[in-house]
Order: sequence, then structure tokens, then C-alpha cells
Amino acid sequence: MTKKDGFSAQELFDTVHGIAYNDFIILPGFIDFNPEDVELESRLTRNIMLKRPIVSSPMDTVTESKMAITLALLGGIGIIHYNNTMEEQVEEVRKVKRFENGFIMDPVVLSPDHTIHDIDIIKEQYGFSGIPITENGSLYSPLVGIVTNRDVDFEPDRGKTVREVMTTDLLTAHEGITLSEANDILKNSKKGKLPIVNDEGMLVALMSRNDLLTNREYPCASKDARKQLMVGAAISTKDESRERLHELVKAGVNVVVIDSAQGNSVYQVEMIKYIKKTYPELDVMAGNVVAEEQCENLIRAGADSLRIGMGPGSICTTQTTMAVGRAQATAIYRCAKYSRKYEVPVVADGGIANMGHLAKAISIGASAAMMGSMLAGTEEAPGEYFYENGIRLKRYRGMASLEALEKGGSKRYFSEDAKILVAQGVSGAVVDKGSLLDYLPYLIQGLKHSFQDMGAKSVDILHQKLYSNELRFEMRSMSAQIEGGVHDMHSYKEPKYT
Ligand code: GDP
Ligand code: GDP
Ligand code: 5GP
Repeated sequence: MTKKDGFSAQELFDTVHGIAYNDFIILPGFIDFNPEDVELESRLTRNIMLKRPIVSSPMDTVTESKMAITLALLGGIGIIHYNNTMEEQVEEVRKVKRFENGFIMDPVVLSPDHTIHDIDIIKEQYGFSGIPITENGSLYSPLVGIVTNRDVDFEPDRGKTVREVMTTDLLTAHEGITLSEANDILKNSKKGKLPIVNDEGMLVALMSRNDLLTNREYPCASKDARKQLMVGAAISTKDESRERLHELVKAGVNVVVIDSAQGNSVYQVEMIKYIKKTYPELDVMAGNVVAEEQCENLIRAGADSLRIGMGPGSICTTQTTMAVGRAQATAIYRCAKYSRKYEVPVVADGGIANMGHLAKAISIGASAAMMGSMLAGTEEAPGEYFYENGIRLKRYRGMASLEALEKGGSKRYFSEDAKILVAQGVSGAVVDKGSLLDYLPYLIQGLKHSFQDMGAKSVDILHQKLYSNELRFEMRSMSAQIEGGVHDMHSYKEPKYT
């Protein structure tokens, strides 16, 4: 048989040069399906599947609860940063876990002697106001009523007791009912809430009609068995993280990311072992790594997923200042190929600057991509927009920028105790991208088109083609890269997203 045109990934990466996303291109495959038929389901960790292979970086200008909620609704996952107090981080995780539910197993409950003012406080703190009322104001106490917004919205006297306004004619369901049976009752009842009671009439759980609507609206949402949105949280390798981790686990975190710029350390190995021993059910994403030997150590310690990247980030100066790191495409290919033997997925972290990079990351073995700068300009990222020279911007900073280090970000860089802080990142701004609700579907649709061009109908198929050498690649010369971008125009309008 004649040799196939182009080069296999093995041939492409088997050189003395480190290869970046822009250095190579993927040759087209055969199309026999529509973009709509492309299946982007992929593994984040050994045990967690995502419908969309998108992860937001644990950075204080990227991921807090708002980003994590929206991203999970759309099929990805957010990793809550830890440049904050333990209480603050845990609260962000809680907000995500409370956002949507099947059975709410720990509903906020009041007693008849509480006042409408107490409901106002709950509404302010949590955002909901449908409160079941039990005899003593706690779960597993006889249910006596329910208060919803409609019982209190026009009441001028906020000091009135709940007893005076609560609804006592209650529709309930019995403990042991399945989620779909309970959903049917909710749908038919036209009520907003369905309390679940046991044989003694005690409240054991609550259901909300709104969650059914959310479920219908976001069919790709990343959810756990309790139908709560999935969320991750970052911790450092420091011992103080153990307490943080304990609280994060109590709040229901689904995956913990050990955030370290150079993951191949005794501290990280010990932390992975500790987590796997203490919380065997919790998936650990370890990293960052860029070379096979690093992967080996972390996989052997028990990592369920690896985060790949040292120095490719948009805000990152590591390669320049530390002289250590690796070109991102080479790092992904090498680590993905190695980790595949152990069925440990890898996440491409940093350096994704456009849709094509995202497709390339997956084409060379990543199961998902973690992004900072791509998401930092969306409404869902923390921080306010501001204007500079008439352009609407949002702040974005490296977690090892001096600004972030001073706030505590140094935990990632083994330098927390050092008196002199050495920056490995910069702080600046990115352009307004509007809402993630518009942006992410655009990225996903683009990715599906890219998969169609590559001739792969799913992430699994793409990876099979990669490792069977069916997927073909080529290096791009400098002029090929220029040719591949917009050129020779007098002027043109940049598309809203690239
Ligand atoms: P699955 O992939 O078959 O698990 O599909 P879904 O998770 O969409 O639905 C399984 C059952 O759980 C159906 O009866 C859904 O209506 C219900 N369900 C899914 N998500 C939620 C939710 O957030 N709240 C409630 N109350 N029910 C849900
Ligand atoms: P409400 O009518 O003001 O209570 O609010 P909705 O029913 O519109 O929304 C409440 C949302 O918060 C749903 O997604 C619930 O799953 C979620 N939630 C989480 N924990 C609780 C809780 O303890 N009580 C209530 N009422 N909702 C909760
Ligand atoms: P981006 O998507 O913006 O190109 O890169 C985001 C990634 O850069 C993050 O997920 C994280 O791995 C990495 N990162 C975040 N802050 C810093 C920093 O200050 N220095 C370095 N070296 N990397 C950073």
C-alpha cells in the first residue's frame, strides 16, 4: 500500500522541536455526517463524563459560582479558584450545588414562629423563598405548612409570623417515591414545590418545579446522581488544604484540582495519596505536567485525570522567567499518549486562543480543554466591565502575577513563605465577550464543524483515528501560517468570536 498523505501524530511530534498549536495543521478526513450528528461527550476524569469538553480555569478572574453554574448548565464544568478564604470557596461550591436539584435533601426549613422577615433574609442569601414549615423548624420534624413568595409578597408587615401566612392545605409525596414519579406529581399539580414526607408525616426532602424547567432548558447540563450541577474546586499541595478539602467535600464538590505549576513534586504525590485514601469517591485532577515521567508519578499516586501545560497560558511568563516548561501541543500529545495506557484522561490547560486551538488540543489526545482568557471576558466571569479607549474590557490576571500573589495565589508556586515574590504571570484585561450563554454554544457549534472536517463523529472516534495513524497532520512553515490567517486585505471586520 502506498504511504498515506501527510504524517501521523507520532511522526509529527517525533522531532527535537517543541510544537505549539499554530505550528501544525490537521489534514481533512472523509465527511459522511452532519455537524449536528457530532457527539462531543468526553471524559474529564476516570469517572466523570462531560457532554461538552470545556473546563474553566481556577483563576480569580475566571471561575466563581456564576461561571461554574452557567458552564455546567451548558455541559462543561467550572473549577472554583482558591485565592480566597476556605469559607468563601466553600460558599461558591455550595451555590453551584444548590442551583438545581432532584430531591433537595437539605432544604432550608422554618418553624411557624419565624417571621416573614426571616424569609426575606433567606431569599436574600440563597435566592429562593419557597420554605417548608415544620413544627420545630428543622428537617425530620412534622410538616405543618409551606410559605412561598405568593404568601408574602404583598404583606406590608414583615414582622408577622409564618403561622399567620403559611399555606396548610398541602400536596405531598411519600418518601421512597422515584424522581420521575415525583416529577409527574409536580407537573400535574401546578404547584411550585412538592414536600416529601415519611410515614410519620415528617419532612424528609423537597422538590422544586423550577428544576424541571431548568432540566428541560439545558439538556446537556453536567449533573451528578442527585441532579445537582457538577463543580470542581482547586486546592494547593500545602497541608492547610486538607481542612479546605474536607469542607469542600462536605459541600458536595465533584472533582478536586491540585493546582500546581510544576506538579511533579513530593508534596503533590503525598496530597494525591491522602485524598484517595481519605475520600476514595472523590476524583482528583493532578498536575500540571508536560512530560511522561511526570505523568507516571502522578498516575502511580492515584490521579484520576491530568492537567497538561507549563507556560503556554496567555498571562503566563513561566517559560521566560523559569526556563522550564514545554510547547503545549507536544506536551499534550506526549502526556495523552502515555496516560491513555492507564485510562487516565488529560485536560489541555492554557494557550487556547481560538476555536481551532480547541479542536487541535482534542485532536492530539486531550479529552477536554481548560481555558482562562477565552472565558475571562464573559459576563459570567468575576469582576466588572470597564472602558479603556472606548473598548469594553474585563480584568484578567495570572494567578502568579504579582497582584494575585499578593492576595494569596502563591500557593501554586511553592513560594508562599518566600519574602520575595517572583512573578510568573501578568495582569491585564480581555475584551468583553458577552454572555457565556451565547458564546459557548458558538464555540461548540464551531467544534462540531471542525470534527466534521476531520471526519470524526465523536471524541472517541477522533482519538481512535489519532492512535491508529489514520488522522494525518502536517507542520506549517511560517509563510503557511501567514497564508492560513486573514491577509492582503485593505481592511476587514473581525468576527465577534474567533
Ligand atoms: P437521564 O439521562 O435519563 O438521567 O435523564 P435526565 O437526568 O434528564 O432525567 C432523568 C429523570 O430525572 C427524569 O425524570 C427527569 O425529569 C429528572 N430530572 C433530571 N434533572 C432533574 C432536576 O434537576 N430536577 C428534577 N426534579 N428532576 C430532574
Ligand atoms: P422559590 O420559588 O423562590 O423557592 O424559588 P424556585 O423554586 O424558583 O427556585 C429555587 C431553586 O433553588 C431551585 O432550583 C431549587 O432546587 C434550589 N434550592 C436549593 N436548595 C433549596 C432549598 O433549600 N429550598 C428551596 N426552596 N429551593 C432550593
Ligand atoms: P489561558 O487559557 O489564559 O491561555 O491560560 C490559563 C491557564 O494558565 C490556567 O488554567 C493556568 O494553568 C495557567 N495560569 C494561570 N495563571 C498563571 C500565571 O500567573 N502564570 C502561569 N505560568 N500560568 C498561569
